[in-house]
Amino acid sequence: MSDLKSRLKDPSLLRTDSFINGGWEKGASRFDVNNPANRTKVADVADVGAAGAKQAVKAAAAANLEWRRTSPFERARIVKRWHDLIMEHQDDLGVILAMEMGKPLAEAKGEVAYGAGFVEWAAEEAKRVHGETIAVPFPGARGWTIRQPVGVVSCITPWNFPSAMITRKCSPALAVGCPIVIKPAAETPLSALALAELAARAGFPKGVFNVVTGEAKHIGPVLTQSDEVAMIGFTGSTQVGALLMEQAAKGIKRVALELGGNAPFIVMDDADVEKAADGLIQGKFRAGGQTCVSPNRVFVQEAIMADLTEALAERVKKVKIGDPFEEGVQVGPLIHDKAVERVSELVSAATAKGAKVVAGGKSLAKELGGSFYAPTLITGADISSSIAVNEIFGPVASLYPVKDEAEIIKLANATPYGLAAYLYTRDAGRVHRITEGVDFGMIGVNAPMVGSPATPFGGMKQSGIGREGGKWAAEEFTELKFVLLSGIDE
Ligand code: ADP
Repeated sequence: MSDLKSRLKDPSLLRTDSFINGGWEKGASRFDVNNPANRTKVADVADVGAAGAKQAVKAAAAANLEWRRTSPFERARIVKRWHDLIMEHQDDLGVILAMEMGKPLAEAKGEVAYGAGFVEWAAEEAKRVHGETIAVPFPGARGWTIRQPVGVVSCITPWNFPSAMITRKCSPALAVGCPIVIKPAAETPLSALALAELAARAGFPKGVFNVVTGEAKHIGPVLTQSDEVAMIGFTGSTQVGALLMEQAAKGIKRVALELGGNAPFIVMDDADVEKAADGLIQGKFRAGGQTCVSPNRVFVQEAIMADLTEALAERVKKVKIGDPFEEGVQVGPLIHDKAVERVSELVSAATAKGAKVVAGGKSLAKELGGSFYAPTLITGADISSSIAVNEIFGPVASLYPVKDEAEIIKLANATPYGLAAYLYTRDAGRVHRITEGVDFGMIGVNAPMVGSPATPFGGMKQSGIGREGGKWAAEEFTELKFVLLSGIDE
């Protein structure tokens, strides 16, 4: 058993029971959380099942009216306290995250701070939920709008950002007055439960903040179909997103879905090749490539293909892979052995059709004793091969030569996904033509990452519905009401 507790400055952050209605619930059974770097057990966690989910939804519904009526300034103070506590415990939260998910410790702490940024932003935005007055075409009448919280929100989150996906989704909901029920991924419930412990310390009233852990297939339907739930916020695969949307459709519930991606990373022949190579390394190997915004198809204009391949080969060979707690490690293990198998299959299928492995290209599970796959660079994969069509979700960069802008836009859009895209060029005309031509919700130009608390995060097509972040998040979690007042003239 990995000794997580002894690594924590504040061991009481290690919570293993669900957090429902202000108390810790043991559940009828338990499930194991494992360290993917060495396959040892980290903890066993409560499975509260459908009954626990019902209890949490009931508690949230009971807290709804009081929380919605709490002054926005008071809500802002509580949310801000949560932020401050998260930052105060950043190191411990980073340790918990790195242990259950496997990203390098420094990156894990970075995720905690990134996620906390959304909490701080949401606290500030709580005070800025405005309506408007509207001139209406009726004599003796006035019209105005008010924005009010939607009600109880179910938040279902993935394992690749165990902390930030919760804070990004939940803090705006909480700030505008919605009680929440979180269901974290079964691989990474400990970060969620540590956040719940800090939420309890921050002073959210009973029932406003709940975390239910356990099997998705039992908990999911309660969170999507209970009458008391107004909205479902989900980050995860397109397949599960579609299922949840279908379940939510029965009650015409609101959904905000942040789903899979197949990000193009476009390098034009006028780009700074060294900077593009640095950017790709940064974007591609974050979380071991297990992010929905990870560069998935690297399109390179033919004139610079050889130079970029060389620049990348040099860098990929130097990427340090190993235990997340080892100094200097840039890539940790994948989430589990199945993920290693999946990535291995994608690479083998590509090489079987003629792709060339320039660096890496193999599982390191045996050598390193965990779910490791080598940082990899391949060229010459067929654009119709599984590695181009699917989200790789692993540390593999695959380069595709392209001729001109028309071909680039066509290929970039030849996917059902539309989350993130990246473009490296120094030509202002190309920036406008390509960013307007590609169908993606977020585009980084000469930038390998796009997320920040201030900006909209979300996708088009099968990458989702709605936007998290910035002023847009508050809109997602509020209803717009119109009031018409008539007969005010004597
Ligand atoms: P990934 O492929 O990254 O694991 P998933 O979409 O499978 O992504 O998981 C994202 C979240 O959705 C996790 O919290 C997972 O437990 C949850 N989930 C998976 N299947 C279901 C389901 N049938 N109902 C509700 N939640 C689900």
